[in-house]
Amino acid sequence: MAPAPRGASATSATGTRAGTTAGTAAEWIPPRPTLPKVRAAAAGCRACHLWTLGTQTVFGEGPRRAAVMVVGEQPGDQEDQAGRPFVGPSGRLLDRALDAAGIDRDTVYVTNTVKHFKWERGGRGGRRIHKTPNAAEVTACRPWLEVEIALVRPRLIVCLGATAAQALLGKQFRVTADRGKAIRGSPFADVVVATVHPSSVLRVPDAAGREQAERAFVADLKRAARHARSESSRSESVRSRATERPSRP
Ligand code: SF4
Repeated sequence: MAPAPRGASATSATGTRAGTTAGTAAEWIPPRPTLPKVRAAAAGCRACHLWTLGTQTVFGEGPRRAAVMVVGEQPGDQEDQAGRPFVGPSGRLLDRALDAAGIDRDTVYVTNTVKHFKWERGGRGGRRIHKTPNAAEVTACRPWLEVEIALVRPRLIVCLGATAAQALLGKQFRVTADRGKAIRGSPFADVVVATVHPSSVLRVPDAAGREQAERAFVADLKRAARHARSESSRSESVRSRATERPSRP
């Protein structure tokens, strides 16, 4: 277990009663952060009670300077056990959709808004059923996402689902109304695009509906890739204009 951060209260360093949070993960961010240092520190995070539910912290992964970052809600059951994001059924659908949208998964940094799996027993056989993280848990975990974004500096961020979208675009943001649209002027990336979480596609009960939902998901990712390409060529042209030397008289 990682040591408690300097200045952390005894309560936050040792966890809290289930259902409550204490402070935020900001207290756990190491000085002069790098991705490996931050990943190691996050493994010992106790900034909210979710560490008592999840098997382990599931931190983001991907290239250090990925142009695209995909942000989900939280790890699922399989991710919780593997300690890696997007390796379960939603991850397989995401891989397929990225491929169909012409985005190479190996060039994408994938992460979640909340780094521990929140669940409750239920359903047949007492399975671990996903529970949506609440606002306090999202706030507690947000510093990990912010430091990942600051270190990777992606040009495009794709938010999967309402939790990720509202964490980065504000509580008023509605994925249903504004999915696939390019949001510019964000402090996090040149372009932020929100779409549905792949788990919502998998939950569509009938095969035809699922196929349609997957096509719409791929279409959003294609739009996101187009926005990123046009933003990138715009920045290139601004950069080259800025470096053009005035001709000598
Ligand atoms: S969910 Fe986030 S803030 Fe809460 S203990 Fe896990 S890593 Fe820390």
